[in-house]
Amino acid sequence: MGLDIRINLPKQGAVETYDVVIVGGGPAGLTAAIYSARGRRSTVMLERNMAGGQIALTELVENFPGFPEGISGFDLSDRMKRQAAQFGAELREITTVAAFQPEEDGCFSISTDQERIRGKAIILAPGVEAKRSGIPGEAEFVGRGVSWCATCDGALYKGRTVAVVGGGDSAVEEGMFLTRFADKVYVVHRRDELRAEKIIQERAFANDKMQFVWDSVPRRIVGGQMVEALEVQNVKTQGLTSLPVNGVFFYIGQIPNTAFLQGVVRLDPAGYILTDDLMRTSVCGVFACGDARSNPLKQIAMAVGEGSLAAVQAGRYLDELECPVPSALDRRQTWGGPDVCEPAEVVAAGDGRPAEERQPTEGGQASGGGAAAGGAPVT
Ligand code: NAP
Repeated sequence: MGLDIRINLPKQGAVETYDVVIVGGGPAGLTAAIYSARGRRSTVMLERNMAGGQIALTELVENFPGFPEGISGFDLSDRMKRQAAQFGAELREITTVAAFQPEEDGCFSISTDQERIRGKAIILAPGVEAKRSGIPGEAEFVGRGVSWCATCDGALYKGRTVAVVGGGDSAVEEGMFLTRFADKVYVVHRRDELRAEKIIQERAFANDKMQFVWDSVPRRIVGGQMVEALEVQNVKTQGLTSLPVNGVFFYIGQIPNTAFLQGVVRLDPAGYILTDDLMRTSVCGVFACGDARSNPLKQIAMAVGEGSLAAVQAGRYLDELECPVPSALDRRQTWGGPDVCEPAEVVAAGDGRPAEERQPTEGGQASGGGAAAGGAPVT
C-alpha cells in the first residue's frame, strides 16, 4: 500500500529536521500525526513499542464513538496507524526517546536509542504504564503467573483460577475478559464499592465467574515454580486470607511515562504533564496530549481530541515562526503554557479547594489549565 510505517529504520546521514516530532504512538500521538500530516507538516512519530499504546492491548473498545458494536483495541489502533501513514506521517516504532533539548536556533534536538533528529515543534504523547504494587512475589513471578495484560496472557488460564487486583474500569473489564478462559476470577478491591463505570459493574455483578473480595489489599504472592496463591488482608478486620490462584493480574492504576521529561517541562506532583487549554506545555514550542497530560479523564475519545488540538496548535505555532510579523518575533512573549495559570485562578474556577486536593475526576484540571487560565491564542 506504500504506507510509511517503519520499525527502527533511521535514515542515514545528516540529522533530519522535521516540522513536528511526536513522542508516543497511542491514540493521542496517532491523532496528532494524522492532523499534522494533513496540515502538510513534515511529521515523524516515535513510539518505543508498537504504535497503538495501551488500547492495542484492549480486547474490546465499546465507548469510542462510531463503533456501535465495539471494536477491538488492536483494530482501532491499526486503523489510526494506517490513517496517519496514508497522509504522510512517518511512524517509527521500537524507538525510545531518551531526551530532548532546545537548540539555539529554536529547534529541539531529540535523542533516541537509534539516532538524533530535530523538530521545530514537539508534541509529547508518551502515555502511561501500569503501576506496580511492590508486594513480595510480584516481581519474582513475572511471566510465571503475574501479569498486567489479560489480553496478552488470559488464554494461559483456561479452566484455572485467577485474581485481578483493583476496582477501576481496567480491573473489572479485564476480569470479565478473563472469565472467557478462567473458571473463577477473584476481584480484590480495597474498598466495598467499585470505581468502574456503572455499566461495567452491572455486567460484572451478573457474571457468575466473578467473585468479589471486598475491603482487601494484596499482601503477598506465593508459589513454587508458578503462582499458587495470593494472600490478601481485609483492611477492616486485618484478617489474612490466602486465595488459591494460578495467576494475578494487577490493575491498580497507572503512572505517566514522563521520567525523561523531569526538569524539562513542568509536571504536576504525580508526574503528569501540565499544559494550558491549548495543550501548550511550559516550554515554548512543546505541546502535550493524551493520558500523560494532567487532565480529568483518561479515555480514548479524550486522547483523540487532545491530539488533534495539539497538532493544530503546533501548526499555528509553526505558521507564526514562518511569518515575520514583529509581534511574533519573540515567541516567548506570546507563549501561554501552564505557567500562566496561578493557583488563585484555578481555585476561583473550581470549588475553593487547592487544585492538588481535588481528585482528577472531579472536573477541571487538577492543576494547570482551567477556563480562567485558558491561554491566549498564539498570535
Ligand atoms: P484507576 O481508575 O485509577 O483504578 C485503579 C484501581 O486500583 C482503583 O479501584 C483503586 O482503588 C485501586 N488501587 C490503586 N492503588 C492500589 C493499591 N496500591 N492497592 C490496591 N488497589 C489499588 O485505573 P484503571 O482502571 O487502570 O483506569 C485508568 C483510566 O483509564 C481511568 O480513567 C479509566 O476510566 C480509564 N479506562 C477506561 C476504560 C473504558 O472506558 N472502557 C477502560 C480502562 C481504563 P480505589 O478505587 O479505592 O482508588
